[in-house]
Amino acid sequence: MRKLGLIGGMSWASTAIYYEKINRGVRQRLGGRHSAPLIIESLDFEPIANAQSNGEWDVLGDQLAESARRLAGAGAEGLVLCSNTMHKLYDYLTDAVDIPVLHVGDVTAAAMHAVNISRAALFGTRFTMSEGFLRDRLKSHGIELAIPDPDRMAEIDRIIFDELVMGEARVESKRTMKTFITNLEKAGNEAVILGCTELVMVVNTSSAVLPIFDTTSLHADAALEWILGAD
Ligand code: GLU
Repeated sequence: MRKLGLIGGMSWASTAIYYEKINRGVRQRLGGRHSAPLIIESLDFEPIANAQSNGEWDVLGDQLAESARRLAGAGAEGLVLCSNTMHKLYDYLTDAVDIPVLHVGDVTAAAMHAVNISRAALFGTRFTMSEGFLRDRLKSHGIELAIPDPDRMAEIDRIIFDELVMGEARVESKRTMKTFITNLEKAGNEAVILGCTELVMVVNTSSAVLPIFDTTSLHADAALEWILGAD
């Protein structure tokens, strides 16, 4: 198996999902007591969220680059950045290290194409929903995205930063997400991308009225394949 580095803590709640999913995948594929060779750098999210709000992206980019170098130096042969939002700084990572960094947008688009879906609404933080870093990456793979509704965007962003990143998945937020997805279905949308690694905590991906592409699950699956050397 190849050793993978995870840049996590953004938030810990979703890094835990990656960790469990990758390990369960290795166990399922290799059997016995096998588990994944991983190195995790779990960062403190409070200063990161503040820097995001203050637009201090260069500082954050430098921090991610340092983190990538530490993981590569510790023996990681590839990297996964466990936050869609921080993919805004993807180039800082690829500039910092020579090992591959699995882009969440690439694996999501591939999963959509595999089931012949090329149009979707994108959910995520306000950064991910309104800026180009993930939208353009998806578009470059032929994925067409619905224009985000400002009220929906604000509420999803609030749920992420006020609840999910602290490990809270409230019943009201699950209801809200279900309503958003139902409304999108009524408006003729074909699918929803959960473009934030915590959103799966409040969206039931198997019983939704639209196909749901959960980036956490897809990214973790890609990580698993990479670890097993099947890419
Ligand atoms: N985990 C999140 C994401 O996937 C949000 C936290 C962050 O702002 O990094 O976008």
